[in-house]
Amino acid sequence: MTHRIAIIGGGTGGVVLANNLAERLAPEIDAGEVAVSLFNDGEDHIYKPVWLYVAFGQREPADGRRPLAELVDDRVDLRIERVDDIDTEEKTLSAGGGTVGYDSLVIATGSQMDTESIDGLDEGGYHFYGESASTELRDELLSFTEGHLVLSVIGNPHMCPVAPLEFVMMADDWFRSRGLREDIDITYTYPIMRTHGNEHIAEWARPRLAERDIAVETMFNAEAIDPSDGMLTSMEGTELDYDLLVTIPPHTGSDLITQAGLGETGWVDVDSHTLEATEFDDVYAIGDAAAIGVPKAGSAAHYQANVVAKRLTSTVRDQQPTATYDGKTLCFVETGMDEATYVSFDYNNDPSPGRPSRTLHWSKLAYNESYWLTARGLL
Ligand SMILES: Cc1cc2nc3c(=O)[nH]c(=O)nc-3n(C[C@H](O)[C@H](O)[C@H](O)COP(=O)(O)OP(=O)(O)OC[C@H]3O[C@@H](n4cnc5c(N)ncnc54)[C@H](O)[C@@H]3O)c2cc1C
Repeated sequence: MTHRIAIIGGGTGGVVLANNLAERLAPEIDAGEVAVSLFNDGEDHIYKPVWLYVAFGQREPADGRRPLAELVDDRVDLRIERVDDIDTEEKTLSAGGGTVGYDSLVIATGSQMDTESIDGLDEGGYHFYGESASTELRDELLSFTEGHLVLSVIGNPHMCPVAPLEFVMMADDWFRSRGLREDIDITYTYPIMRTHGNEHIAEWARPRLAERDIAVETMFNAEAIDPSDGMLTSMEGTELDYDLLVTIPPHTGSDLITQAGLGETGWVDVDSHTLEATEFDDVYAIGDAAAIGVPKAGSAAHYQANVVAKRLTSTVRDQQPTATYDGKTLCFVETGMDEATYVSFDYNNDPSPGRPSRTLHWSKLAYNESYWLTARGLL
């Protein structure tokens, strides 16, 4: 009997997992004992970190796109199809108008934007959490020469929790280098009583925002946007006038997860160490789709994919899986246009951002270039 492993989602987690399995299980796949299928609802793999740089004219959306066919090992059955439903009792998926059986399922469906949950968000705010959104913001930033820029973190959890801090620090630097900063005020809003969900990153960020003259509004939960008046209102009753509003929009998980009854908000509850679904047999979730409280970051998706690859390898070899995820996350953090720091942490160790340097900025850019090799499992 062939053990059928189905992976839904050809983003960071799904591709790293598929390639890792193809390498580990090559003998079994070649012998027909294991089949690995990767389903994705589009032909391209998208590397989202590029969008931060698109907003400042440093990269093009195309720099973050590559055909999945070029990235995924030939041993993997790559299926460019949306999965429309999952039946965890029957162990089947609906995709491409047919039904496909699985023995082990991995959900790696990522996050999506929910721009309709806040009044006025679609019309009134820009963001950099999408290809076209980041190019629209780039055009707007280029013509923005004076006024009040507000960056409002509306949704939590959201992808790359440090990206809003990166954005305002890069914007500060970018406007300064163009001689515009004196005519532009910048305000950063965050929904809880500090500048970031992680208290150590928040402590690090607060003085850095102050020294750059970036105003901060904490406990600011955006409720409504009035684009005609340029007014952002919070549930706490604070009103902010803006000339350019950049948001981190609310996120949800994939519709597939809610529709298939695997998680009400589109995230799947999994054990934080084994990444196995708590309520469904033979189902894992990794990356953004997994509800385990670690940041929705590509690095976390990558580490989790490696763990699940080891666990599935043990399973198909009739061994007890022992690999576990320790919560590891690593993120470079841009602190301007040519300086960065990084944070590395896990379930037992807190982040401790170091002194920013040009070397770390270049390390982040170098990582972005080498990502394509990492995704293929070559680094
Ligand atoms: C602006 C920005 C900057 C970022 N910077 C960083 C950074 O510096 N470092 C970092 O670690 N992370 C960063 N991230 C976060 C990182 O990109 C995500 O956390 C990561 O992509 C999550 O990987 P994933 O595999 O879970 O999901 P994704 O990479 O989003 O992949 C999910 C895939 O599943 C597909 N899919 C969804 N539903 C279905 C379905 N029903 N059927 C078939 N396919 C489906 C999607 O189309 C997509 O291809 C950033 C994100 C953004 C937006």
